[in-house]
Amino acid sequence: MNQEWQKAMLEYINKTMHFQGMADLLFCSHYPFSAQAKEYVTQKGLQLSTEIIEKAEKRVADAIVLGKIRKVAQLPEAQEEELAIYAASRMIVSACANRYIMNRYCIAEAKRAGEYLASDSSAHPEYIGQVASEFGIKFESTKEGVLVPVVDYLVFSPRSYDYKLSNRRLKAGKVLISSHEKIRILEEAIRKRMESSLPVKAQFPQEVAEAARRIVKLMPKIEISATKVDQKNYPPCIKKLLEDLALNINVPHTGRVALAIYLSSIGMKPEQIIDIFRSAPDFSEKVTRYQVEYISSKKYAMPSCSTMDGYGLCVAECGCGNPLRYKDEIHGARLRRLEKRD
Ligand code: SF4
Repeated sequence: MNQEWQKAMLEYINKTMHFQGMADLLFCSHYPFSAQAKEYVTQKGLQLSTEIIEKAEKRVADAIVLGKIRKVAQLPEAQEEELAIYAASRMIVSACANRYIMNRYCIAEAKRAGEYLASDSSAHPEYIGQVASEFGIKFESTKEGVLVPVVDYLVFSPRSYDYKLSNRRLKAGKVLISSHEKIRILEEAIRKRMESSLPVKAQFPQEVAEAARRIVKLMPKIEISATKVDQKNYPPCIKKLLEDLALNINVPHTGRVALAIYLSSIGMKPEQIIDIFRSAPDFSEKVTRYQVEYISSKKYAMPSCSTMDGYGLCVAECGCGNPLRYKDEIHGARLRRLEKRD
């Protein structure tokens, strides 16, 4: 390995990982974002090579195109290599300097870790506690389910209706969740950590920069479709959701449903709505198509402004009562102003 690569690898490791405890190779390969993984990589002095960068490019390409990253073989050599591939993947993603790629990659890494958390729950249950301690989360198992402190729940639970605190059972100041939700919360914590630590600012080797250029070409061509919609009469909440999608920001489930209902209610066809959602970092054609077509066929009523506010989706005080009445409200107010002037 040449010196430039070694320097980039060490710089990367120092900036993105945290140390805690003794290293366990299997654990590290399942959870390469962990402090233990950093310790392992530092102690072993894992190196970059052309082969590692090629495998890392494949890992990032899978994340961007398929939305998922394959799990690694159980052989010790493959597990060790996995750590170097992970480090190189993050270099490539950083060199892309593109929010969509970063978000989609982080979601795919978090999902991969979530799959391991699910299988480790029975095979290596101690790993779950180790991952939780990475984020300072103290889960407590009870006969009724798993308890998690409210603060941790609020910080790490997914932004969806099902996880709203008002819909949850509290016990002794803690939130009662299922084992599946415990893994979802950890998955979310992993995604957040990964997103907050990217991009890494460093001088990357030429091979990494070239891989990044190829990855950028894999981005969906209709990425900016959300900004092409004529939004002149759209209410601020809907404009904000479209803006977030255009910036490849992950819109919560409640926001996606509200947006789909709104667009469907104003006469947009399912195909056009699906195109708008293509910018979401976790976009899945199959899931989105099913949900949009279902919403369009059921002709759901648009949530009121107070419901939107309850979901954290209201961003202004328009006084229209329902986002669908926003257009009439602003035209009515303009008309009233003109009449007053006359
Ligand atoms: S008041 Fe209603 S229309 Fe205006 S931003 Fe809030 S939810 Fe949207």
